[in-house]
Amino acid sequence: MRTYGLEGKVALVTGGSRGIGRGIAERLGRDGALVAVAYARDAEAADEVVGTIHKNGGKAFAIRAELGAHGDADALWAAFDAQIAEHAPAGGVDVIVNNAASGLFSELASLTEKAFDEVFAVNVRAPFFIVRHGLERLRDGGRIINISSGAARIAMPEIIAYSATKGALDNFTLNLAKELGPRGITVNSVAPGIVDTDINADWLRGNAEAEAQASSLAALGRVGRPEDIADIVAFLASDDARWVTGRVIDATGGSGL
Ligand code: NAP
Repeated sequence: MRTYGLEGKVALVTGGSRGIGRGIAERLGRDGALVAVAYARDAEAADEVVGTIHKNGGKAFAIRAELGAHGDADALWAAFDAQIAEHAPAGGVDVIVNNAASGLFSELASLTEKAFDEVFAVNVRAPFFIVRHGLERLRDGGRIINISSGAARIAMPEIIAYSATKGALDNFTLNLAKELGPRGITVNSVAPGIVDTDINADWLRGNAEAEAQASSLAALGRVGRPEDIADIVAFLASDDARWVTGRVIDATGGSGL
């Protein structure tokens, strides 16, 4: 398999313990980066990811920080700072992947203000302040990669507030790219379509009809896998992507064309 030379780089992946984030953490680890695998609750899953990266010859450590209404970005960086010196004495970070997010299935008619605030706290406020507090640690020439969603482009009223969080994240990407360009830092969003992860387990896994329906939405005719997204993130993290910034990279397998 092709790998990008990320040796000597430090990457932080939020939501790195499961699903797409796990795929990203493992891929960046294989590419040579030291990976901080951030998680909220599932320490066992995070340790498993760290173990897999080690088994593949890479370097990683887990950090616990709940984001959103019940947590904050400061706590995440404090957890990062507490461990980074042991793994990389110079400290600092080169790649920030804002991947952790909450899903919210709710049409406007049944949407509550509490649920709206919670999903925005995890999916928008947390990435904003992870970057705001991370900027002093992020080295020039670094990368910020925000995991968005095809739902920011394709109308899906049944997840209207979740989609709005991803629209906000894409706008953050745009403005941040302009602001950080002078430091050689690129900022991009990656927008997956339906991917087989725990977020979709209830309705997708073990349901052949649902899987066929979900597959039919993508021009490429299947549901996405975490590695489909992780490989794009690895490219964006690499030097090969140095001239791409401020963009939303569609990773939906051609959904809603
Ligand atoms: P997932 O399988 O549900 O995993 C979510 C990850 O985020 C876990 O590592 C979880 O940590 C962490 N997390 C959740 N809430 C958190 C919080 N409040 N604070 C800190 N960490 C938290 O999700 P996924 O499907 O891989 O989704 C990853 C990203 O892709 C999200 O941004 C999502 O919006 C986007 N996306 C997914 C799909 C899809 O179809 N799966 C489609 C489009 C976009 P714990 O394990 O500790 O709980």
